[in-house]
Amino acid sequence: MYIFTIDFEDWFERKQNAELKPLPLSRLKFGSDEMLAIVEKAGVKPTFFILGCTAERNPSLIAEIADKYDIGIHGYEHYNCNDISVEVFEKDLRKVKRLLKDITGKDVNKYRSPSFSLANRSFLKVLVDNGIEVDCSLASINHQYGSKVLSSNSPCRILVDGAEIKEFPPTTIGFGNFKFGFLGGGYFRMLPYSITRKLTSQNKEYASAYIHPCDLDKKLPWDYAETIQLEERTFFAKLKAQVGLKTSARKLERWLSDFDFVDVETAVKMIDWENTPLEKM
Ligand SMILES: [Zn+2]
Repeated sequence: MYIFTIDFEDWFERKQNAELKPLPLSRLKFGSDEMLAIVEKAGVKPTFFILGCTAERNPSLIAEIADKYDIGIHGYEHYNCNDISVEVFEKDLRKVKRLLKDITGKDVNKYRSPSFSLANRSFLKVLVDNGIEVDCSLASINHQYGSKVLSSNSPCRILVDGAEIKEFPPTTIGFGNFKFGFLGGGYFRMLPYSITRKLTSQNKEYASAYIHPCDLDKKLPWDYAETIQLEERTFFAKLKAQVGLKTSARKLERWLSDFDFVDVETAVKMIDWENTPLEKM
């Protein structure tokens, strides 16, 4: 089973520190126009995890997307869960849930945390309490923005105070025992397509892939890191933000045609949940 998802956010909203509020011009359309054309042409139906502040600035686009595709929540602000309290997290979640209901008419029940940063049961409890039934956030490796939470990156159920949440973890990629990232985003841009193809094939039982609109923005400003994050003002961070932008659209076309990707809603129906592991966090 191959799941395809899009974390739908503008390029400057991928900040990790809420107090940094840069106001550069939106570039959402530069990546999203091509992305939407490619998924439509490929006949692939991704799940769009929508960032609330992006939705607030682009309500008609979000309504169009929700008409055609499965949608989930990606937070209102792009908070890293490790930087905020449970109370702030809940306020943020309620805000985006209300907003998406207003824009799309849908009561959204799927969630992905910014940067796969969801890390403990208190945050999962907030998801359950607010009607989230499916989460796509929990990492099985320690990574730049969060910690290892699960022992494997296969679908499972998480028991939270008597309630169950269905979990589709991001697919961890690497070679042998060396795991270094997730299937999609910057890694998709950085790696030659032949390697992405191999890594995807190796996970045919279950792979969950993701991408952002800005991964297809060929003219993403070089000063990306200067604008966004103090801790990422390094040559490597700038390179990571820029690498592969010129070829990513063609690579995406090949990826979507080589594999039969489905959205999260379809994947939920394909799984025999009674027989998936029950994780107690
Ligand atoms: Zn994001």
